[in-house]
Amino acid sequence: MTRVEQAKSGLISEEIQKAAIREGLSPEIVRSAMANGTMVLVKNRKRQIEPLLLGSPSRVKINANIGTSSAHADIKDELEKMRIAVHHGADAIMDLSTCGDLKKIREELLKECPVAIGTVPLYELAIRARERGMSVLQTTADDLFEIITEHCEQGIDFLTLHCGINLQTVARFKEVNRLAGATSRGGTIIMEWIYRNNKENPLYEQFDRLLDILAKNDVALSLGDGFRPGALHDATDRVQIEELIVLGDLVKRAKQKNVGVFVEGPGHVPLHQVTANIQIQKSLCDNAPFYVLGPLVTDVSPGYDHISAAIGGAVAAMAGADFLCYVTPAEHLRLPSIEDVREGVIASRIAAHAADISRGNPSAIEWDNAISKAKIDLDWERMLSLCIDPEKARSYRKSLPPQDDSSHCSMCGEFCAIRRSRSVQQES
Ligand code: SF4
Repeated sequence: MTRVEQAKSGLISEEIQKAAIREGLSPEIVRSAMANGTMVLVKNRKRQIEPLLLGSPSRVKINANIGTSSAHADIKDELEKMRIAVHHGADAIMDLSTCGDLKKIREELLKECPVAIGTVPLYELAIRARERGMSVLQTTADDLFEIITEHCEQGIDFLTLHCGINLQTVARFKEVNRLAGATSRGGTIIMEWIYRNNKENPLYEQFDRLLDILAKNDVALSLGDGFRPGALHDATDRVQIEELIVLGDLVKRAKQKNVGVFVEGPGHVPLHQVTANIQIQKSLCDNAPFYVLGPLVTDVSPGYDHISAAIGGAVAAMAGADFLCYVTPAEHLRLPSIEDVREGVIASRIAAHAADISRGNPSAIEWDNAISKAKIDLDWERMLSLCIDPEKARSYRKSLPPQDDSSHCSMCGEFCAIRRSRSVQQES
């Protein structure tokens, strides 16, 4: 039985109980949300980790992408990025490796990573084809399903698969006047395969076969949005929405087959369209958890795209998005460094936490009240320990020159507003 099937039968498993305690929710709320598909507990049956709980009213979660590329393929660096991401609070890691021994990379990650791991099997399809001296366009449905099965058997917790790209959505893509075309790597692989072979997407055509493979190890399905906008100009257009309608149908089928499912979303979206994008997804996809990639709210921020994505992510999560994929300052420029990963995770966590407050999450609100109290008390040690990135906050504080009066900082010095305010408030 999968977790969804168990939840539908009324069973409150130990996993549900533990997740509910961590989130401050009643186990019955989690069970019933899992049964109706508004929450998903993500963990491969083979792994020994705390499952990732996605979906309101649980805390908004964040994902950090790591992985090799042809420009840089050092497995040690990617493992270190995973460690840094987890250390700074990433709830999940996606391995997007496209170079080197992909199976070995997954093996190393699975050995060490304490959080849920996701992959995009279409990348491996393209790489294996290249290793065999052929084009990915010559690969077959069986080739793809073989790789998907391997990822599930190896222990991967969730797979992003672009099942909503089909002959119809590819035809629509040809019609719309996009500025940036399609920018999903996995999505464009399957789009070109469909277009050049004039055949239906095996992931769409044989969706039940896919669900059976996932159900065997209770692997969650992340329905990829291959036609997500890659520029603000293209946001919320006909092809994006048409794919989302297909994904909505597939969500229903996954739920019927008791497979945990969530839906990937944009991308690049102007700020005033972010809320509408979430509302449309929730409405079309039966309130399945929504996993947004950013979204970036401007296209002019390379070097600072983590900030652009945090603005979009906070608004998206406030409107109901459940899972934010981080963006690093290196986005659109190069493979992220370890420092880029750290900055991306913290930016995404700030977005998720800001949204948790707006969603009324009691422990998020308590955290802010605690640090505010420490600030007002000029209790520096407690304040620093409550920062979202205590290491960076401490390094700033340490950089201060030695001073006689440590009750204020170098910002306002002797004009410390807190000290002055306290002296008035406390005078009897
Ligand atoms: S000096 Fe200014 S910034 Fe520093 S603690 Fe006092 S009020 Fe806050």
